Amino acid sequence: MAAGQTEFDVLVIGAGVGGYPAAIRAAQLGKRVGIVEKQYLGGTCLNVGCIPSKALLHVAHLYAEFGEMGLMGIQAAQPKVDMAVAVAYKDKVVKQLTSGVGQLLKANGVTIFDGMAEVQSPTQVRVTLNDGSTQDLRTSKLILANGSTPIRPPFPGIDGRNVIFSDEALSMSEVPASLVCIGGGVIAVELACMFNAFGTEVTIVEMLPAIIANEDEEAIRALTQSLTKRGIKINTNAKVESIEDADGKKRVTATTADGKKSFDGEYVLVAVGRQANPAGLDALAKAGLNMERGRVLANEKMETNLPGVYAIGDLVGRTWLAHVAETEAEIAAENACGHEARMDYDVIPRPIFTFPEVASVGLTEKQAREKNPNIHVGKFPWAANGKALTANEREGFTKVIIGEYGEVLGACIFGPDATNLITEYSLAMRAELTVDEVLSTIHPHPTYSEALREATLAAEGRPIHIYQRAVARR
Ligand code: FAD
Ligand code: NAD
Repeated sequence: MAAGQTEFDVLVIGAGVGGYPAAIRAAQLGKRVGIVEKQYLGGTCLNVGCIPSKALLHVAHLYAEFGEMGLMGIQAAQPKVDMAVAVAYKDKVVKQLTSGVGQLLKANGVTIFDGMAEVQSPTQVRVTLNDGSTQDLRTSKLILANGSTPIRPPFPGIDGRNVIFSDEALSMSEVPASLVCIGGGVIAVELACMFNAFGTEVTIVEMLPAIIANEDEEAIRALTQSLTKRGIKINTNAKVESIEDADGKKRVTATTADGKKSFDGEYVLVAVGRQANPAGLDALAKAGLNMERGRVLANEKMETNLPGVYAIGDLVGRTWLAHVAETEAEIAAENACGHEARMDYDVIPRPIFTFPEVASVGLTEKQAREKNPNIHVGKFPWAANGKALTANEREGFTKVIIGEYGEVLGACIFGPDATNLITEYSLAMRAELTVDEVLSTIHPHPTYSEALREATLAAEGRPIHIYQRAVARR
């Protein structure tokens, strides 16, 4: 939408989960705010990332759970998945959220420009609107929230038929018969889990020694086992170097310690990471904006080295997570509006929406031991949690890492609702609570949350619902 107003206190480039919260916060602080978006309100997360993937994962999880319903006395004919309807359901969820973003921006008085922004200087932006016309805007403060795009590795065959990225994987009209995932990171494991549940034969090819390699080692082992048990073939230490057509399928070839190995599938999903998208920022780069391989560098106040210019979210690329982009957005808006706010990157939850889910915060056990061997680790299995048994969710564990002063250093949950539960440990870390406060907080029964308290008891050597030979610490 073109608008009459062209002078702003704060102008935001990009309306993803970084950009739109920044605009709303600046408007709440009484500023004249504009936002420029070239493609879709809500950006990657709402249109082709977090939300669509979780909507389809929800469908896949329901479908997968059907298998165990007989065990609980629910008898029905084997259901079938209609992928086109599942995708339409996902599209409806996306539309509801993205139109909500538009309404929120308007309700807060933010002027929306539908078009591509070319930043001319820290105070001048030219927008090529979707109707082809241009509009020149002036601003006191600029917040860059241009986001990211998938990395397209320069393999032979990358542009071929049936080679897809996460965008296309979330809009398939039919369930693929087989799929080879290049990369075993977060996108690959989530989508592998989804397609496997729908009946696709899935193969993961990862160049590192493990999938989700930065996570807790026990969680990696447990997820690997769980996915393998369900039929997903996981190949690690295998660096993909080419894709070709062979025998009517796609063939992915990787270099391994034992030489070259090939993996065949109907489709190939490329999920080897994302890269910052500095589109429209050439003039700022020429003016000396500090950048590193497309990423814009920003300090803890989200300030770049150019006065009045802030950068947030995947464009900064510290974590590539929506909730970090949103927090950075609020920090940038506060600072752009004359307040003082700083990011703290120590306590960032890392959710992975496989089933079971994996969620972590803070240090892994290995990282904590490397820093200080004098730590206590408590672990509690879901098989000993009443609520988990009622839901037939026996797989996995909750683990908490406690420092020598009783502080929570990190946690990792592999199991039901892990991505929600991790917030309890995040809050404990953020508020610098010790085991005493966690343990003296009464957790409702029967709930999954009791497992977090039990894991903390286990770190103290005194769990109630599992037998632990070690003597209580206190
Ligand atoms: P984006 O969402 O990429 O938004 C940037 C916006 O800027 C885009 O809309 C773009 O069109 C616009 N833009 C760029 N340049 C210009 C220009 N010059 N002019 C005008 N507009 C411009 N994270 C999680 O935390 N949880 C998840 O479950 C999760 N799932 C994901 C699943 C997938 C498949 C993918 C791909 C990502 C997922 N992520 C998840 C990551 C998350 O989507 C990103 O971290 C988040 O979207 C970053 O937000 P952003 O606003 O920085 O960038
Ligand atoms: P990623 O960095 O998580 O994983 C990419 C993987 O590809 C790595 O393990 C890497 O070793 C591997 N790889 C790279 N080149 C390879 C090659 N030639 N052969 C074999 N393996 C290769 O990236 P992603 O999975 O693409 O996800 C991008 C970002 O999106 C992530 O960083 C993540 O933060 C975000 N995301 C988050 C969520 C969530 O929070 N639940 C979900 C999806 C995506």
